[in-house]
Amino acid sequence: MKPLVENLYVHVPFCTHLCPYCDFPKERLAGNRMRDFLAGLQAEWAATREEFTLRPRHVFFGGGTPTALSPALMKELLAVAPWGEAEEWSVEANPDGFGDTKARQLAAAGVTRLSLGVQAFRPADLAWLGRKHDRAAIRQAVQSARAAGIRSLNLDLIYGLPDQGPAEWQETLAEACALEPDSLSAYAITPEEGTELAARLARGEWSPNEDREAVLFLLTCRFLEARGYQSYEVSNFARHGHECRHHQAVWSGKDYLGLGPGAVSTVGGRRWRNLRDTGAYAQSWRLGSGPRREEEEARTSEQVRTEEILLGLRTRSGLAEPGLAGHEAWLDTLVRKGWARREEGRFRLTARGRLRADEVAAILT
Ligand code: SF4
Repeated sequence: MKPLVENLYVHVPFCTHLCPYCDFPKERLAGNRMRDFLAGLQAEWAATREEFTLRPRHVFFGGGTPTALSPALMKELLAVAPWGEAEEWSVEANPDGFGDTKARQLAAAGVTRLSLGVQAFRPADLAWLGRKHDRAAIRQAVQSARAAGIRSLNLDLIYGLPDQGPAEWQETLAEACALEPDSLSAYAITPEEGTELAARLARGEWSPNEDREAVLFLLTCRFLEARGYQSYEVSNFARHGHECRHHQAVWSGKDYLGLGPGAVSTVGGRRWRNLRDTGAYAQSWRLGSGPRREEEEARTSEQVRTEEILLGLRTRSGLAEPGLAGHEAWLDTLVRKGWARREEGRFRLTARGRLRADEVAAILT
């Protein structure tokens, strides 16, 4: 019997410009590469259906910037597979270049959730992040999504920027909340290896400040929770019913299939990555020549358990206590310190504890 996969991720590797902090597989928009990508995706979908039973339930289009494609190419992308049958279909977008036409196009195809890469509002923050949009573009994109009837709207934000103390970050959060999103994601800026940001760090032009980030993280939890956004993962906050179910499925260890260049899949105890280069990816699926996947591995039960603990500690659902036998004294210590709670047979980190999720995970694994 073919394995059933209900969680699908589609990686669309194109952006209108490249941001200095980004390490996702992506490239600048170019017509021929986009055509290659679409042909590769169609071939991958057809071939993958032979291997797995694909029943889209939670679909996530990320990137890159899926909405950077022209309306004509987006039409093709949205029709590659029956994505619209999913209960949740999320698409990432950037405020620049996202208006009524694309919002209507997504809504008509059945997209239920839009995740907008806002990142910041202050011009200095946006410039430092290399973003090309401004406040007016953010407002316009939100309005377009709402007017088109997309059910759930998420805003992505980044904190830990230069000259951003608690007052400036709180202003950013307030500005985001004023747009009435259904959920928010707030990530600490990270100098990923090989990015321009890492080069700035190496040149001494900037450095992350962990203590300040911790203050901003706790502020985020307090501020958003007071406004009805519950933290359901370290970086993710949502009003009831607006949690990203695709992410929740992945975090809880469900199988997921990644389509597109560089996309990662985990199915039936195996994990692999598609070829990252768009041309090589497309060729591998269209012509069936050479390997289609890299970094393929069978996961050991130890790897699965370690990941389960790491991800569980980062989420609101936490970990089932019976699985933590042998660590009782340590769990009690964490509860006494105010880093964790034991509720309904589950062990959950508090906001303060989530700041140290990796440390706690190291002890429990
Ligand atoms: S728009 Fe998003 S995916 Fe594209 S370069 Fe910037 S951060 Fe990366």
